[in-house]
Amino acid sequence: MGEVLRSKTAELFNEPGCAKNQAKSEKERKKGCSKPLVPGAAAGGCAFDGAKIALEPIVDVVHLTHGPSACEGNSWDNRHAATSGPSTYRLGLTTDLSELDIVMGNGEKRLYRAIKDAIARYDPPAVFVYQTCVPAMIGDDIEAVCRHAAEKTGTPCIPVLSAGFSGKKNFGNKLAGEALFKHVIGTIEPEYTTPTDVNILGEYNIVGEIWQIKPLLEKLGIRLLANITGDARYRDLAGAHRARVNMMMCSAALINLARQMEERWGIPYFEGSFYGIADTSAALRTLARMLVERGAPEDLLQRTEVLIAAEEARAWARIEPYREILKGKRVILYTGGVKSWSIVSALQEIGMKIVATSVRKSTEGDKERIKEIMDDPHMVGSVPAREMYARLANDEADILLSGGKTQYVGLKARRPWLDINQERNYAYAGYDGTVALVAELAKSLSNPVWEEIRRPAPWEISADIVPLDCGPQSRSGLGEA
Ligand code: SF4
Repeated sequence: MGEVLRSKTAELFNEPGCAKNQAKSEKERKKGCSKPLVPGAAAGGCAFDGAKIALEPIVDVVHLTHGPSACEGNSWDNRHAATSGPSTYRLGLTTDLSELDIVMGNGEKRLYRAIKDAIARYDPPAVFVYQTCVPAMIGDDIEAVCRHAAEKTGTPCIPVLSAGFSGKKNFGNKLAGEALFKHVIGTIEPEYTTPTDVNILGEYNIVGEIWQIKPLLEKLGIRLLANITGDARYRDLAGAHRARVNMMMCSAALINLARQMEERWGIPYFEGSFYGIADTSAALRTLARMLVERGAPEDLLQRTEVLIAAEEARAWARIEPYREILKGKRVILYTGGVKSWSIVSALQEIGMKIVATSVRKSTEGDKERIKEIMDDPHMVGSVPAREMYARLANDEADILLSGGKTQYVGLKARRPWLDINQERNYAYAGYDGTVALVAELAKSLSNPVWEEIRRPAPWEISADIVPLDCGPQSRSGLGEA
């Protein structure tokens, strides 16, 4: 690991805003948070991937991956971050470094040419350049190349020091926050400011979730100055330092950015969630209170209560028809991070029973939250597929909520499964999103296919019925006849 990367990694591991890190001894802190990567496990989960996930939703800029094209292929658009306009972010550009470039020392030249080419073709407001393992190992100075390219072209070029081997996905989120803080936020003054300007951090507009939140803020007259980074525009991010309050959607992702923005520009931050009715209301209340404390008109508090009452009543009325289907149904929630508690609270609100919730990627704060909201918290770490299968097959739960990787375990155990991770096809944020989640849960649970596939096969009931055998023996038998 190069010296710059090593010192940056050590600095980020020592995040003062992270309660988990601060609880460790100095010696432990030096080791960092990341467990050593298991060979093969880095694909799709390395620091580069985490940085890309956090920054790729900036929709009007060019994202250029400096490294072999396989790195870009692993991370391209894997969160379905939606856009309301430009789609430059989906280009998937890479310098496609080859062995020859490495041997000949052509990496930096190739990067410079690629930046110039991208600017000439797409005229973006900025280019984000991601470092991957190979250029980090051969010592390409992407910061110097970006500086030089920005001087020559007049377009900001943002180096993201995200060599995959420096840590896992969560650490990559922090590297992304670092790049935003160092090179983007505070570089442009917004055209105007209001006393109700806010930023949301760690929201990536998965399947359009920010569009379920933004109308609520607009009804209250709260301006979303910058969403960091779902459906974001470069100029909005560059002026994000003028917000009055930062809301952090995921404690593990961009806490370094929230803390540094508070230190440099005095923007207070809080952690909240827009999953579930109660949490959405709590987030709106906290936003309103903090804005009033920072000079927004006092009537914002009362208007917020009026909006919450109306929206909650509307959401509960829409949920009512599903209540009978969902009441008492048992759920295994296999996700992590902030979702481990925010989805728990949403499911409990509608009368479901949480059999277990995973805390694989959760912080100590997330775990405390779970203990607060669950009478009997069943927190689990990584559960091997075999164990998960046994729990489902033994009828310990009615439905599995997880990401795509675990879906086959649920399907093999013939249990309903619902995707709540980044690959999902439905947006579940805010009041409307909670209603959508409830509707999807009810659809999955009441789908008649589950009854069908759990029924014994005809040959398991009657010895007279022989299963159709399409194997080689049967084929040869037919041939002989
Ligand atoms: S950055 Fe490194 S760990 Fe990540 S995908 Fe590329 S080679 Fe693999």
